[in-house]
Amino acid sequence: MGKTLVIGAGGVGSVAVHKMAMNSDIFTDITLASRRKFKCDDIAKSVKERTGVEIKTAEIDAMDVEATAALIKQVGADLVVNLALPYQDLAIMDACLKAGANYLDTANYEPEDEAKFEYHWQWAYQDKFKEAGLTAILGSGFDPGVTSVFATWLRKHKLDSIRQIDILDCNGGDNGKAFATNFNPEINIREVTAPARHWENGVWVESPAMTHNYKFDFPVVGEKNMYLMYHEELESLKTHFPEIQRARFWMTFGDAYINHVTVLQNIGMTSIEPVMHDGKEIIPLQFLASVLPDPSDLGELTKGKTCIGDIATGNAKDGAGEKTYYIYNICDHEECYAEVGSQAVAYTTGVPAMIGAAQFLKDNWAQPGVWNMEQLDPDDFMDMLNNHGLPWEVKELDGPVQF
Ligand code: NDP
Repeated sequence: MGKTLVIGAGGVGSVAVHKMAMNSDIFTDITLASRRKFKCDDIAKSVKERTGVEIKTAEIDAMDVEATAALIKQVGADLVVNLALPYQDLAIMDACLKAGANYLDTANYEPEDEAKFEYHWQWAYQDKFKEAGLTAILGSGFDPGVTSVFATWLRKHKLDSIRQIDILDCNGGDNGKAFATNFNPEINIREVTAPARHWENGVWVESPAMTHNYKFDFPVVGEKNMYLMYHEELESLKTHFPEIQRARFWMTFGDAYINHVTVLQNIGMTSIEPVMHDGKEIIPLQFLASVLPDPSDLGELTKGKTCIGDIATGNAKDGAGEKTYYIYNICDHEECYAEVGSQAVAYTTGVPAMIGAAQFLKDNWAQPGVWNMEQLDPDDFMDMLNNHGLPWEVKELDGPVQF
């Protein structure tokens, strides 16, 4: 129970505040702040219409640590939920330390001029948060987020150890556009054009982006081509579950998406190196992002389902040797739109952000320090997934994956 300041009025921020308002016994006072206040006001209007709850709004540039700390104090926030972009993570963590507030985000920090997806910048805040008696929870979206909680739940209830884990992210939805990303275009394209990397026998194995793929038959969604990629939770999972021998991340993409990205990459439009244009320095990827559809406008157009989950193999708790489990959620784009006015990619990120925030406010996860999701107890989070729109299933497979 407590006061929450959400920063970032994009697709994910919108879902999170709608779901917080639907749980006003936990989120007793909600403020939404972003660079452009009109976006917060539009969302606040929808929240009021759908839930009857009034949320407050504010304008903030989260890169300005002093101004953000002042806003946190003015709101009296117990918890700051950072749903802006990864570039703002450290500035918002600094503002939380200055103002004495706790912190939660859904994506790890990245400097604008490097696409590395590494945790070390945020893990370096461990002592500062501990000494201040404050909690920072990293990566409370779906992936990272729920996929790490799924792994922890399997390790708590089904497996004594995890030998290998594959995270499978399938978006079987279609928005009818020739090319559009389903979350922030700049971050999405940085991710998919980065080299693929997976953890195997104590080392990172790197391969060029989008080279390894496999046709997987997803529950409900059916067969889709998924591509091996790097994703940030691989680093935290192999760190916190050191017994893991192999950890991989896969995401589905249609042929049209791959063709567009390949062309854009070949002609230099996905580069984050500055170039001169008309006497001004611009970043090609930022220019590209500005002409692509805004993902938060795609809700009404998107049909189909997502299926995201983990396949993990390890020693069974019941002493019955090695077992393999598949744990996943299916989410329907149109149902999300009907409930909160957003498509499923924003929904599957915004709902876990709300649930992670609730874990802190319910005192389940409130402990000084910087934590990744797999370090925290999974049980109440898993119950809340079932009760707040992201039900999950777990089934035993015949044996380890064969891809
Ligand atoms: P959007 O681009 O839709 O929204 C981001 C919002 O952040 C915008 O409204 C923007 O403000 C605001 N913002 C940007 N810079 C600043 C700043 N300096 N100060 C204040 N506000 C700022 O992104 P999404 O909603 O798609 O994604 C939000 C976050 O969720 C991202 O970090 C993304 O990486 C993460 N994510 C995580 C996933 C997971 O499963 N873990 C999956 C998908 C996304 P404005 O519009 O007001 O200018």
